[in-house]
Amino acid sequence: GAIVFKDVHFHYDPDRPILKGVSFEVPAGKTVAVVGPSGAGKSTISRLLYRFYDVQQGSITIDGQDVRDVTQKSLRAGIGMVPQDTVLFNDTIAYNIRYGRPGASDAEIEQATEVAQIARFIKELPDGYNTKVGERGLKLSGGEKQRVAIARTVLKAPPILILDEATSALDTTTEHEIQSALDVVSKNRTTLVIAHRLSTVVNADEIIVLKGGEIAERGSHSVLLEQN
Ligand code: ADP
Ligand code: ADP
Repeated sequence: GAIVFKDVHFHYDPDRPILKGVSFEVPAGKTVAVVGPSGAGKSTISRLLYRFYDVQQGSITIDGQDVRDVTQKSLRAGIGMVPQDTVLFNDTIAYNIRYGRPGASDAEIEQATEVAQIARFIKELPDGYNTKVGERGLKLSGGEKQRVAIARTVLKAPPILILDEATSALDTTTEHEIQSALDVVSKNRTTLVIAHRLSTVVNADEIIVLKGGEIAERGSHSVLLEQN
């Protein structure tokens, strides 16, 4: 699942370009992080890859195939997206996780929750995996919801992962716990990380600094730390 952004131009409003010729590559199995100030166009990059919108100029390819040439359904089947604010179905925890792969067995679901580091928490609930969550059930914290989303993604086992500010809404302790779960999930998987802060993307193979819709800097975590 190699991802290539080639000279990508994008605007929501023609008078206001958001991406002005962005080119980068996420080699298969590697992790690339896009960091930068708010409004730089970071999330737009993930939305283009997941095809909420199409580029106006340039191209995005996965394994050499233009994302515009595959159906949205098959494109998304190969991508796991962990957003900033996970919204869960008003149903059981098991249902929410099994959504990642409807045929999964109970044992596979439990395995996924081990990776997401939420298995023990779930087992201690009176109804365990059958606990209803959401507005009409148990209220989960942001970190717990994120872990349910991660377990769902583990089960889906997509070749490509998009982590869009997946830990930015959490307190520092929870952020570190979720980060370690995400490090396991993204290992050997083509991963695009969108993040505000350089400190959350220590393990990325390459970091791209986006400013004003252009790549301002790129390099390893240590090189960028020295320069900033
Ligand atoms: P970042 O993730 O770096 O904070 P975004 O990609 O979310 O930035 O947004 C880049 C710019 O595009 C922002 O100025 C934002 O206001 C604008 N923008 C984002 N989404 C839309 C939209 N749906 N319609 C119009 N403008 C948008
Ligand atoms: P897919 O094409 O894999 O069915 P979607 O594009 O519908 O996925 O949604 C992307 C991801 O967002 C899903 O894998 C799921 O994790 C989550 N999702 C979609 N709709 C809902 C919803 N109504 N409630 C909770 N999570 C959802």
